[in-house]
Amino acid sequence: MKLFNVAVLSAVCLMANSVVRAQNAPESIPGAVLCQGNYQTEDEAVRQLERLAATWTTQQDWKARAKQIRQQILTGAKLNPLPDRTPLNVIIRNKRRFKGYSVESAAFEARPGFYVYGNLYRPEKSDGNRPGILCPHGHARGREGGRLRPDQQHRCATLARMGAVVFSYDMVGFGDSEHLGWDHKHEQALTLQTWSSIRALDFLQSLDDVNSTQIGVTGCSGGGTQTFLLTAVDDRVKVAVPVVMVSAHFFGGCHCESGMPIHKTARLETNNAEIAALTAPRPLLLVSVGGDWTKNNPKVEYPYIRSVFKMLGAESSVENKHFADEGHGYQESKRQAMYPFMVKHLKLNAKGVIDLKTGMFDEAGNTIEAVDDMRVFDDSFPMPKHALKPGTIVKF
Ligand SMILES: [Zn+2]
Repeated sequence: MKLFNVAVLSAVCLMANSVVRAQNAPESIPGAVLCQGNYQTEDEAVRQLERLAATWTTQQDWKARAKQIRQQILTGAKLNPLPDRTPLNVIIRNKRRFKGYSVESAAFEARPGFYVYGNLYRPEKSDGNRPGILCPHGHARGREGGRLRPDQQHRCATLARMGAVVFSYDMVGFGDSEHLGWDHKHEQALTLQTWSSIRALDFLQSLDDVNSTQIGVTGCSGGGTQTFLLTAVDDRVKVAVPVVMVSAHFFGGCHCESGMPIHKTARLETNNAEIAALTAPRPLLLVSVGGDWTKNNPKVEYPYIRSVFKMLGAESSVENKHFADEGHGYQESKRQAMYPFMVKHLKLNAKGVIDLKTGMFDEAGNTIEAVDDMRVFDDSFPMPKHALKPGTIVKF
């Protein structure tokens, strides 16, 4: 699949931003400012990290700051207090069996009538004690976009073949959500997606074959944003691998990432590097490239994040894999960097998947499915009657 053009994507998302900015105006939060796209220069980002570093010295300082950041994200996203956990009314259907794993179509209600659509990848054999991994996705559009992309299918299948139960799910207006009429410009996109990710954790934990204490999350680009936001606000995530998204100067170009006041208020300023640092002391792998806004990770974002881990006595739990000559995306090189981190920290079984001579993880054994085979709802299995109409403002 062709790499999508980051500049075009950012421009499109920033245009979408101007449409939704009015609805999400942060007047109700004192001093709130939307930090969007390249809100600050790379030099300003360095100086901001110096200011942020000066706000804490001890573990107690950091824990208090982390709590404030977490609260600011939830308040900015209109999720504070957290909404009620309404019944998920899980649907799992249409099991397809492949070599060493299976895929089912799955959906649940994050709010009454508001569905999250996805695919559930499971290892062939289950002992009822499997790690669970969430896979959110980025902004690649079109019929084979989002969770339907071959690269996303590869990472889910490979992780399942190594023993994980993996849920790959749609952001608003992608995949089945788009197919059923939802638009990513929906003004609640950030709120809906963050809440959907929290409920996706509930969904994984509700499965008989998942060990609720062994949960990971990994996504790229906009899915990287979901990865670090979810990890910051929900300590059930035990391992996080945000790919090509953690940047101190770039805040995400789409309203689902930065269109609500989660970064800056009169009370507190932060950026996505510090939000990623809230993962500490839980294991964190940053995957970065020379060809996008993560180009400075080795010398700017990673040292700040590592200093938090070090202060918490967990320096060995954080890593940065940087691909200086590569561009944006979750291509095979980045997946090959993620697999061993998940194997190590979620105790996956790579036997039969890793080539012990080269250290490479086999993806040739995966089956890439056709889009129509991956849908949850179709003519033979229609949407429940109480499902919200596309575009509805969802009540919280
Ligand atoms: Zn978006």
